[in-house]
Amino acid sequence: MAGEAFLKSIEINFQQAIKLLDELGYDIGLDQGLVNQILAANSTYLVRFGVRLRGEMHTFTGYRSVHSEHFEPVKGGIRYASNVNQNEVEALAALMSFKCALVEVPFGGSKGGLIIDPKDWTTDEMERITRRFTQELAKRDLIHPSQNVPAPDVGTGEREMAWMADEYRRLHPAELNAWACVTGKPVSKGGISGRTEATGRGVQYALQAFFDHPMDVKKARLSPGLSGKRIIIQGLGNVGYYAALFLSTEDKALITHVLERDGSIINKDGINILALKEHLIKFGTVKGFDGFVSEGIDLLEAEADILIPAAMELVITAKNARMIKAPLIIEAANGPVSAEADDILNEMGTIIIPDLYANAGGVTVSYFEWIKNLSRIRFGRMQRRAEETRISALIEGIIALTGSDFPEHLAKKAIQGGKEIDLVRSGLEDTMRNAYEVISKTWNSDKRIKDLRTAAMMVAIKRIAQSYSSMGI
Ligand code: GLU
Repeated sequence: MAGEAFLKSIEINFQQAIKLLDELGYDIGLDQGLVNQILAANSTYLVRFGVRLRGEMHTFTGYRSVHSEHFEPVKGGIRYASNVNQNEVEALAALMSFKCALVEVPFGGSKGGLIIDPKDWTTDEMERITRRFTQELAKRDLIHPSQNVPAPDVGTGEREMAWMADEYRRLHPAELNAWACVTGKPVSKGGISGRTEATGRGVQYALQAFFDHPMDVKKARLSPGLSGKRIIIQGLGNVGYYAALFLSTEDKALITHVLERDGSIINKDGINILALKEHLIKFGTVKGFDGFVSEGIDLLEAEADILIPAAMELVITAKNARMIKAPLIIEAANGPVSAEADDILNEMGTIIIPDLYANAGGVTVSYFEWIKNLSRIRFGRMQRRAEETRISALIEGIIALTGSDFPEHLAKKAIQGGKEIDLVRSGLEDTMRNAYEVISKTWNSDKRIKDLRTAAMMVAIKRIAQSYSSMGI
């Protein structure tokens, strides 16, 4: 079962990192008991609930797994998909713990899922199902501003988060922090600017950070700079779409392949991502768009500089790993490369920027949203005008002293105080760059640390172990 293999892959990565921490003489107080405690999910709740729809009772199965509570609330998305299962949810919850530790977001890891194909139900029905699921989770504090804060994932988005927040508020009308019970809400319902695109934006920042490390770029046998790099994107959902859009329009990379469920688009001069997304939304398929071919997943093996799997787990396994030609893979999805494939790709010299770092942009901005909800004020609201007045005075002073004009385009840029979106972007960029710095430094510190995944895992485990020991465990 795919979920089992996914969980196994994470265990293997984890054990490798533990072994290396030990071999390299890091004393982080990890006895076997603590190792087991960090690895295993603390609890997984399974719920079956009925909803009366279309004149009959339908039973749905959902999960919420809590991996690690060294920080609370615990955090992680809820996915809606027909193949959701306990192992998958536990694997994803574990990844959340490592992810949060890596980007220094003070949350434990959690993840949820509902076995459902959203395409089978109308919007009204989805709302009723989501509200019932929320009631079940709320009963056990598995949705709670200070204990467990869900977010969007595959198959869910702003809409589901708005329903969940509203249902939670209905159940707890006097709870002052109720809005903070989920993140990824629409801006008009307590969300934050920039959360929707945050994971894709984070992938862009991760790639920029990678290309700012010449030694690492050399290891991938790539020339410097993102501009002109040929990219394959697998999956044009929320994460894949924004990553592809920003990389092509802002970094001038060429998205040569987009792989979707019902075929792919190929264009060696670069696909117009905005137009493709519009087509996909309008017709529900990539068919009919310029450059359409019926091949799908096989095109992961196409010639390119960078491969971005941005859909589901385990798309690169022992079966196809040897055929992957791109020398650099960045895991925008969670768990797209199996542990076996990871070994094969490592042997081939392929560099992988791992999921626990690459897609951490989502939870980073979720953290900003949660803080915004608790403080009940939009970021930048207090200081924006004051900043603008101060910089204007400074510019006037320079003009008075020098007697020359201050270039208008620079003045405009300097005077404008940070809006919420600017602050979110700056916070996200800083987080992604800092985290890459630490991972790359660890990777390059010893030859025995064979890849970025092991390095990232080592950093995450060290931090989690530290917080356990500071709790006296
Ligand atoms: N589902 C996203 C992830 O896998 C976001 C989690 C969150 O924002 O809590 O990282």
